Amino acid sequence: MNPAAAFEEAYRRAPEGVWHAPGRINLIGEHTDYNDGLVLPFAIGLGVSVAAARRDDDVLHVRSLQAADEGVEVRPGDRVPGWAAYPAGVAALLREHGVRGASLLIDSDLPAGAGLSSSAALECATALALCELYGVEIGRRELAALAQRAENDYVGVPCGIMDQSASLLCEDGHALLLDCRSGLSGQVPFAPGAAGLTLLVVDTRAEHALGDGEYARRRAECEEAARLLGVPALRDVKDLAAALGSLADPVLRRRVQHVVTENHRVEAAAGLLRAGAVAELGSMLTASHLSLRDQYEVSWPEADVAVEEALRTGARGGRMIGGGFGGSVIVLVAADRAAAVRDAITGAYAARGWTAPVISAPAPARGAHRVS
Ligand code: ADP
Ligand code: MG
Repeated sequence: MNPAAAFEEAYRRAPEGVWHAPGRINLIGEHTDYNDGLVLPFAIGLGVSVAAARRDDDVLHVRSLQAADEGVEVRPGDRVPGWAAYPAGVAALLREHGVRGASLLIDSDLPAGAGLSSSAALECATALALCELYGVEIGRRELAALAQRAENDYVGVPCGIMDQSASLLCEDGHALLLDCRSGLSGQVPFAPGAAGLTLLVVDTRAEHALGDGEYARRRAECEEAARLLGVPALRDVKDLAAALGSLADPVLRRRVQHVVTENHRVEAAAGLLRAGAVAELGSMLTASHLSLRDQYEVSWPEADVAVEEALRTGARGGRMIGGGFGGSVIVLVAADRAAAVRDAITGAYAARGWTAPVISAPAPARGAHRVS
């Protein structure tokens, strides 16, 4: 059932409109966001849709076709638990701008918690719907910051600005070069298909227990290194050799090495894409992976095998994406080699007795927009 029909069934009236906000994949720039650095995400075709209509009171009604509950009613000042906190947080922050009550019906084809950023898609689809319903004009960069604040303050997740910026600002056929310190961004052409290339996403189906604790530890290590180096954040390290020379701890040296070189790789990747050299991006991806594996030490065996098999089969490059210790790998490969790469990775997993990977090829898509 489409979201408009589901809205009618749930609320016994027609919605005033349907809005869509996409998930994203970050091409390069891993563990750079909380170091005030650069990232390069692109929006994918999968996302969250919200069918919505105003109410003549201040109550927010939310239902999701993916939630087990029958829906939630949120009054001004209410704090709600669970998934409804995402749209409720957005609505609460938009109240200051004149947004009042609404009924929302949420539907999504984006798997939640899979690293494709369903949370930001949910926030951004809700934000766009409420703004357009109430004629509130907020620029998309400001709206991204508002959605991030909703997740920080109402859900309690200390996320950065990348996911919301990608969902709201990405354009079809482009990746978004985003400076996580300033929130400023620019469009960079990214159309692998037009260059005879395919970007595969390999869900390694692996989740290693260390994940959360190690993520917090990396953040703390970066803060400690920045403190020792006397810079506000690792993105401010200008002379890598001097910085490495001044740090006694080999672990901190490896962390700094990754963050500083990864930032340079994002800039180089954006430069290559601007020059139309999409295939050359592959070597940047592989360099990022090796750095995440050896310097940042967040890769996992299934990711390493996926990247090795892809390269062995002639892919241009590939890397793990996300925080590490589980999740997905991206691979850039000539379109006519994509099937061979898929087979090689699947075969290597089977030979090791691992769960079969799930491999897809999501194309770059446009950012959040009104559907009807
Ligand atoms: P990710 O953003 O990587 O998908 P998160 O843990 O940040 O993972 O966000 C997932 C959460 O977002 C879910 O647990 C749920 O609370 C909420 N969410 C995402 N999609 C939906 C949906 N279609 N309906 C209801 N809640 C959703
Ligand atoms: Mg999220």
